[in-house]
Amino acid sequence: MKLDVDVLRYLSKDDFRVLTAVELGMRNHEIVPTELIDRIARLKHGGTYKVLKNLLKHKLLHHDSSKYDGFRLTYLGYDYLAIKTMVNKGVFVGVGRQIGVGKESDIFEVVCEDGTVLAMKLHRLGRVSFRAVKSKRDYLRHRSSYNWLYLSRLAALKEFAFMKALETHSFPVPKAVEHNRHCVVMSLVQGYPLVQVKQLQNPEIVFETILGIVVRLAEHGLIHCDFNEFNIMIDDDEKITMIDFPQMVSVSHRNAQMYFDRDVECIFKFFRKRFNLSFQESIDDNDDSDEGKDEDGRPCFSEIERSAGFLDKELAASGFTRKDEEDIQRFIEGGAEAETNSDSEVDSVEDLNESILLQDEEHENKGKDESCEAAESSASEREDATDEEENEM
Ligand code: ADP
Ligand code: MG
Repeated sequence: MKLDVDVLRYLSKDDFRVLTAVELGMRNHEIVPTELIDRIARLKHGGTYKVLKNLLKHKLLHHDSSKYDGFRLTYLGYDYLAIKTMVNKGVFVGVGRQIGVGKESDIFEVVCEDGTVLAMKLHRLGRVSFRAVKSKRDYLRHRSSYNWLYLSRLAALKEFAFMKALETHSFPVPKAVEHNRHCVVMSLVQGYPLVQVKQLQNPEIVFETILGIVVRLAEHGLIHCDFNEFNIMIDDDEKITMIDFPQMVSVSHRNAQMYFDRDVECIFKFFRKRFNLSFQESIDDNDDSDEGKDEDGRPCFSEIERSAGFLDKELAASGFTRKDEEDIQRFIEGGAEAETNSDSEVDSVEDLNESILLQDEEHENKGKDESCEAAESSASEREDATDEEENEM
């Protein structure tokens, strides 16, 4: 995917106002009626229509007239809203090359004012699995697909919260810098995904270190659930950094044992195949005791002193709630879709207008755009959101 950041420079204040109006409208419309966008954005002399055309040209919006005339954000549109917010906050000043394409994300380098290079992960929940979920009839009958916005935002929030909490407990993870919408900015890991590494100086030590992380995670109440050679980075000194946290679960999850064993198995399999490691030997060489391990040296989940809830406080502090976790988990496990966050819906044009105004004020007063947060907190105070057009697809 190409992120032409130059476009950012050409987008005017009005462009962003209309883009934000569409974002707000998407809280309870999959496709936001053009006339509603106009009412929210309140540009003079029919200015909204001209702006919509421009945004469409740059593929920041998608036009849909199948049921009525309306627009929705594209990923690119959502990217630009997040990037603009980050730039306004002074998190970074420019976006560089793409460094990773994950299953459900795009990773770019971003550069700060002082020249520091960071990594920006744009979550794309729904890019792969969403289609599978969408094909279920059940799914179609209920809520609609505007939920990718919500899910991608949740994934970013979860990733940020977990990264912070893990860092606090001295796990080798990137440093979490900032998050907004579906975007997480973190330190750039110097190194490569383990999958790209053909040779190691000390494969046994690296193996034990990695296994040690899985065990220590469990002791802290967590299972990575995607702990493999793609999500483990290693540098020239063979220092390990683990990445990619949106799918992590608690050790109290009903399938915890299975997830834990799967993570362990991935590591064993990879090291056996790639580095010809024979495990009995490595255990004999390095371990004082084989306690808590099976005969091949695999750690036994049941024998780890696990402390579920250990990180709860840290996670809550980052604003990641139990409901968020339930929603995202339901989605990741491929069950029913996550429900759109009902308390972030807005119930009238007045509310939307208020949100937009709030944003503008914030932006102008502080010289930084906390727009989404401002809009969200204002909107989340409304309790009785409408169910308007809930069934629409
Ligand atoms: P996904 O959830 O889509 O798998 P990941 O977080 O695993 O996304 O990132 C995908 C790829 O991007 C990684 O394999 C890695 O090559 C690169 N990457 C991700 N985060 C960083 C980072 N902080 N520093 C350097 N490279 C990164
Ligand atoms: Mg990954």
